[in-house]
Amino acid sequence: MNQELPERLIDESMRRVDGRKPDELRPIKIEVGVLSNADGSAYIEQGRNKILAAVYGPKEVHPRHLSLPDRALLRCRYHMAPFSVEERKSPAPSRREIELSKVIREALEPAIFLERYPRTAIDIFIEILQADGGTRCAGITVASLALADAGIPMRDLVVACAAGKVDGTIVLDLNDVEDKLGEADLPVAVMPSLNAVTLLQMDGLLTLEEFEQAINLAIDGCKRIYKLQKEALKAKYLAIKEEVEE
Ligand code: UDP
Repeated sequence: MNQELPERLIDESMRRVDGRKPDELRPIKIEVGVLSNADGSAYIEQGRNKILAAVYGPKEVHPRHLSLPDRALLRCRYHMAPFSVEERKSPAPSRREIELSKVIREALEPAIFLERYPRTAIDIFIEILQADGGTRCAGITVASLALADAGIPMRDLVVACAAGKVDGTIVLDLNDVEDKLGEADLPVAVMPSLNAVTLLQMDGLLTLEEFEQAINLAIDGCKRIYKLQKEALKAKYLAIKEEVEE
């Protein structure tokens, strides 16, 4: 995957380094229920990103003193496999992974009816098998499906997507090169049916007008991915139904 860094990120026909138009998402493939030993699981490919999520719980809390009297304790671990990036990553948790674990947990937390499961824990594991920019967003999208697959009651699915600015143009769903060489990156997570934003970060500089354009584009991208999330959930149950009927 040794990439030559391009001189320009957008060509004269407004095509990006991977051939996409500014408002185009990367190709997305989602599968729900991929692991038999977790309570819930899901897998996503978004462009070259490959991410697996597994959920355990609600279950007993260990160590016990961490349990909360009025709601479930939500824990999240975002982890990059050593082979997930061009330069081997140490398997030990980095500052970035610790921060992303917290940010992702906070993006998912508002969706879950944690108050229904006091003194229990819900654990989310996000394994980045291959990374190409936007892994926190794809991680949120796939983890929310793993939660749903575990049968954990939720107000809505959480879906995330970034928009940003490259070569002066506002673009959707930045890949690694665009993330590194671009002017700005704005990851957004939403619960689409509730019109609620659960994550909003920004790296780089945008004018107020560009910010509005970027956030609207990111939310539009989220809504498109939301449809794919629901299709993937339905596909799992259709497959089970067909199996039972056979
Ligand atoms: N990345 C990398 N090595 C690392 C961490 C990140 O090569 O140790 C790459 C990876 O492709 C990641 C991208 O940098 O997706 C952007 O990372 P960022 O921290 O912006 O988070 P993300 O966009 O993945 O949510």
